[in-house]
Amino acid sequence: MKDKIIGGNWKLNKTIAETEEFMKEFIPLFKRSSSEYKVVIFPTFTSLQRAVEMSYGTGLLIGAQNLFYEEQGAYTGEVSAAMLKEIGVEFVLVGHSERRHIFGENDEIISRKVRAGLDHGLKTVLCVGEMLSDREQGKAFSVVAKQLETGLSSVNEQELNNMVIAYEPVWAIGTGKTATPQIAEEMHAFIRKTLHQIFGTSDISLIYGGSIKPNNIRELSEQPDIDGGLVGGASLNVESFIKIIENAI
Ligand code: PEP
Repeated sequence: MKDKIIGGNWKLNKTIAETEEFMKEFIPLFKRSSSEYKVVIFPTFTSLQRAVEMSYGTGLLIGAQNLFYEEQGAYTGEVSAAMLKEIGVEFVLVGHSERRHIFGENDEIISRKVRAGLDHGLKTVLCVGEMLSDREQGKAFSVVAKQLETGLSSVNEQELNNMVIAYEPVWAIGTGKTATPQIAEEMHAFIRKTLHQIFGTSDISLIYGGSIKPNNIRELSEQPDIDGGLVGGASLNVESFIKIIENAI
């Protein structure tokens, strides 16, 4: 169903000790905040279990940044959905642009990862978004449509309820160049329309990601089709992340 969600994607940042330090400072502030947003932090694999333990009973949710689609076997370096579930992880990111562009994940791989996340009851966040060259060539909508169609090819209408779509234009991630609220809204509305065409429903959370900061979340979250944000750099600092949560409408 359609929750308002703010996620903090920590990427390759924070040791277990640094995660503990963040949580000790963040959790009391988070509990005091009156925000209606669900808040999810995505730490590195090594910090996940400690983050789950520390967030227990606080309302703060924990997600993994990635998973592998196989259950077990000769897949050196990979972690399965069942392993994440076992330690109490509730969310998983799939298809983040860094996975697509640095680690070569294509839409077929991403679709299998979506399947694995859903099969294990993880709230699965499918990340989509065009590159600057796609936008400049007028291909932003077709690129995102293809990412949705293939990424969600094994998903049915009911399972869609256990998903979130994060629209993250690649040109806005980690660049300080946020999409204008108009550009972001236009693509979110397009995503909602595309989901409706595929599934006959589009009543799920669509969140924006790309250089969100305390001073731009308000305008973005005011847009009718934007249900929250996925925050990278600004989620690493307690003060800026809590401000983002509080400033979101
Ligand atoms: C992200 O990695 O999902 C992201 C949006 O990063 P940043 O906020 O740093 O642009």
